[in-house]
Amino acid sequence: MALFLILMGPQGAGKGVQAGFIRQQYGNIPHISTGDLFRAMRTRTDDFAKMIQQILASGALVSDEITCKMVEERLAEPDAQNGVIFDGFPRTIPQADWLANYLSSKGEKLAAVLLLELDLYEAFRRTFGRVTGADGTSYNIYSNAEGITWQWAEHPDKAFPPRLDATVNATGEKLIRRADDASADAIIKRLDSFVRDTKALIPYYEQHNLVRRVDAAQSIETVSAAIKTILDNTK
Ligand code: AMP
Repeated sequence: MALFLILMGPQGAGKGVQAGFIRQQYGNIPHISTGDLFRAMRTRTDDFAKMIQQILASGALVSDEITCKMVEERLAEPDAQNGVIFDGFPRTIPQADWLANYLSSKGEKLAAVLLLELDLYEAFRRTFGRVTGADGTSYNIYSNAEGITWQWAEHPDKAFPPRLDATVNATGEKLIRRADDASADAIIKRLDSFVRDTKALIPYYEQHNLVRRVDAAQSIETVSAAIKTILDNTK
């Protein structure tokens, strides 16, 4: 049976890690992040991609029409036929309505909306402290720094906050920090928009009895176990 899920939560709640767990447990269904799909257009130079880049840079939302069209194209790909983990989509009620109609036209429906709940200050801390290896392994200077060495490095122009230098002890690999994680201002903007987006969507999905809340402040393994219990009971 296909498994269509929405993963919701502020950045730092562990959506990427838990999407990996769900894929591994429930048949390699793709993790579709609309933010990632839009960011992937960065390398394109056509007018459409340029317009999307401008919208992303401004922090505004892309129109529902363009977003749903892009999702529809992605859902038509062969790997999405057995289910999908949505991340960052839907962000508006029209997108949620579109998704419900799309799935029902295919004889499918959403299994659950997994809401990874995390205190926003903790979400900020986790986001500010995360670094990733080239293979996607993630570490956090505050909570998951085993096996890495890290230090704050002052900017040549003394900009604040300082740069975070982190390396893997075993291999010497230099870890990467997302540019938008390095800016406190950008993190706060994203947390703000998360709160705004979910304000309308949570009651919408609660009406459909689809919201399943998980305490994302727990360890990765405990959150995975809670998700497994939920999904084993909803499938
Ligand atoms: P994210 O990585 O999910 O924070 O998304 C990055 C940016 O992509 C957002 O600030 C929006 O400009 C755009 N975006 C991502 N998902 C959506 C969506 N579902 N609807 C509209 N715009 C989106």
